[in-house]
Amino acid sequence: MMRSDKPLRGRFAPTPSGKLHLGNAMTALLAWLQMRAAGGEIVLRMEDLDRQRCKPELAALLLTELKWLGLDWDEGPDIGGPHAPYEQSRRTGRYALALAELACQGRIYPCYCSRADLQGAVHAPHGLASEGPAYPGTCRALTADEREERARRKTPSLRFAMSETAIYRFRDGIAGELTYSGGAGGDFVVKRADGIVAYQLAVVTDDIEMGISDVLRGWDLLDSTPRQLALYEAMGSPPPRFAHSPLLLGEDGSRLSKRHGSVSLSDIRESLGVRPQRLVGFMAWLAGLRDRIEETTPGELVSTFDLSSVRRQAVTLPDDWMDLLKGNARSGPIDE
Ligand code: GLU
Repeated sequence: MMRSDKPLRGRFAPTPSGKLHLGNAMTALLAWLQMRAAGGEIVLRMEDLDRQRCKPELAALLLTELKWLGLDWDEGPDIGGPHAPYEQSRRTGRYALALAELACQGRIYPCYCSRADLQGAVHAPHGLASEGPAYPGTCRALTADEREERARRKTPSLRFAMSETAIYRFRDGIAGELTYSGGAGGDFVVKRADGIVAYQLAVVTDDIEMGISDVLRGWDLLDSTPRQLALYEAMGSPPPRFAHSPLLLGEDGSRLSKRHGSVSLSDIRESLGVRPQRLVGFMAWLAGLRDRIEETTPGELVSTFDLSSVRRQAVTLPDDWMDLLKGNARSGPIDE
């Protein structure tokens, strides 16, 4: 069941544990275009649950850089809105309620496994590509006595029990038709042993409460979708539509990172001295929306935006991508 009868609402949900980089910025641009082209609304949600890793100055920089690109939003931490607060660190009471509800349904259980136990699970079934072996279910069937005994030694994490027989089928707006079966990566953590609510639970709770109809995010989270579909089902809420934007790779085939050059927006702005219109044109070209790199603004891309023209495959950037971005490159468009 889809939310087609609901208002169109998308979101960007950055994690302020690092600087915005080219890949996140392209995803934000696409999420913005998807909503603006359809007359929908955009929510900006700061995913700052991990207080050790997330920094307020990075959150502030993210907002500044998204605005510098020419993006805006209808609700967010800086402007408020009907679903405030928009920082996950201020929404923990909601996650506790969601966990309590799942506990009532008997869908979650305490897991006492250590990192070493998990790594040592040699015969573990194949898990999600992004997360390694599936959890072998060690703590799923512990007796009350076993739990008590383990609880004396270790604070547990909480895991959501995936059905091994359920089949999760969905049509991704970019990746196409997908099917996950066989437990889709196994039972996953919804609350960490250090007390921090895990990504899957927080994101689904918020997307439901914020009335999100369309999730457009990076391809690295594609594998999380069946887990999130299982949570939507358990929480009795119809899922949003999903679309996963292509990963950016360096010429060596690994994910674009610092060793491929100035990938953070700050470096692109300050060290390379690139103007936002140039960067937007570059990202539109990377994403497959334009066949040449031309200066443009997000607003100018709205009228011709079509999700089906976004590339389905990862995008490989040539080694001289920074010259291409600056406009003084030798090579032409991407390797196709
Ligand atoms: N906070 C996540 C990230 O920055 C994105 C979560 C999502 O879009 O579902 O990678």
